[in-house]
Amino acid sequence: MNKMNPAEIVLMRKAGQITRDALNYIETLIRPGISTLELDKCAKKFIIDSGATPSFLGYEGFPASICASPNDMVVHGIPSADIILKEGDIISIDLGVIYKGYNGDAARTFPVGKITSAKQRLIDVTRECFFEGVKNLKVGHRLGEMSHAIQEHAEKNGYSVVRELVGHGIGKKMHEPPNVPNYGKVTDGPLVTENACIAIEPMINMGKRNIWLLEDGWGIVTQDGLPSAHYENTVLITKDGVEILTL
Ligand code: MG
Repeated sequence: MNKMNPAEIVLMRKAGQITRDALNYIETLIRPGISTLELDKCAKKFIIDSGATPSFLGYEGFPASICASPNDMVVHGIPSADIILKEGDIISIDLGVIYKGYNGDAARTFPVGKITSAKQRLIDVTRECFFEGVKNLKVGHRLGEMSHAIQEHAEKNGYSVVRELVGHGIGKKMHEPPNVPNYGKVTDGPLVTENACIAIEPMINMGKRNIWLLEDGWGIVTQDGLPSAHYENTVLITKDGVEILTL
């Protein structure tokens, strides 16, 4: 795990605030009739106007500043003028920024207009999974205690956890060691250390956990076509607990 000094922590906090503010702004734009490309354009402008850089743009060739993943899409949706949100959809927005060399990364799943109670429950439980994880993230303990808590909360609610994609360390790079899975045994993973930053990001499916990669090489969808939700924050681990940098 990385170890941030006090000056770096200040920059991680600022990167986290810009990430949070950009997501809050995008939330205000979500409505039936808007395209995911329009959301991407607005996010890019907001991030740049905030003095940061959209970290997703150009990352391993990704063509946009946000990932916009509706309904059965789990993550990594490429924004498009052809994807128009409609009443009853859910849409996961994942967004990252670099501020003075430090990264913030966060995701939310939003309702589009009025959604079914089943979809709302998926969104709520996915967010709860994050917080169940955080409760079990403690310095000197195995990271697996957190991962296990996330899986347990998802499965006890009848959902499944995506395995192929995981959270990650974060700092000067968006993706740093260690892997931060949303499943596993309490004895798995490294020991949790102080002043480390990680991104915790449960991806929870309403049906089975299995996924496909789309032909565009990015989009990930559920094989059973049922909805999936995503909730992510960048956090700083301190000796007293966890500081959530993107809330
Ligand atoms: Mg991430």
